[in-house]
Amino acid sequence: MEPWEQLPSVWKTKAAYFKWITNQIRKAWSRHPIKVEFKKSKSFLAPLGKLKDKKTGLPKMVKCQKCNVCGETFRDKDTQIDHIGRAGAFKDWDDCAPYMKGLMHVTFESLQVICKVCHDHKSYSENNHCTLEEAYARKSYLVWKAETPIPEQQALLAGEGYSDTSNEKKRKAAYLDLYRNAT
Ligand SMILES: [Zn+2]
Repeated sequence: MEPWEQLPSVWKTKAAYFKWITNQIRKAWSRHPIKVEFKKSKSFLAPLGKLKDKKTGLPKMVKCQKCNVCGETFRDKDTQIDHIGRAGAFKDWDDCAPYMKGLMHVTFESLQVICKVCHDHKSYSENNHCTLEEAYARKSYLVWKAETPIPEQQALLAGEGYSDTSNEKKRKAAYLDLYRNAT
């Protein structure tokens, strides 16, 4: 018998059980001394605070780190410590050893500071087996598609020289082509 079979009121499915156990292990990761020290070593003060310094009138100095992917500086709360290689997923008992090793067997060299936006795109690229650039292009398309009425999409694409935008597949191809040429 499996734990989720014995207490289905707690874990409705096997997937729910492994999601719970992943969350438990990630709590230990969040306090991993290598991670904590790595973050400390990458931290510096920069004038990105929302509050102003009373003496100078300039934005207050706050703890920051630089994103290793986009190179921008972010406040401490807007960055994460990322495994450069993939930590993997824990979805079955057989994943246990590789997942634990991927997550916990870290050194400063296998970690990087990443901003939330870059992290989101990195995860998308890993889950969809595409490059980071492709992830930015596709996610940009999804936002644009959701926010722009179809006639406006067609007008914008027509203005850029894409005349055949009669269906979504064609509009997506045109948008991605435009995005890639612009970046
Ligand atoms: Zn970034």
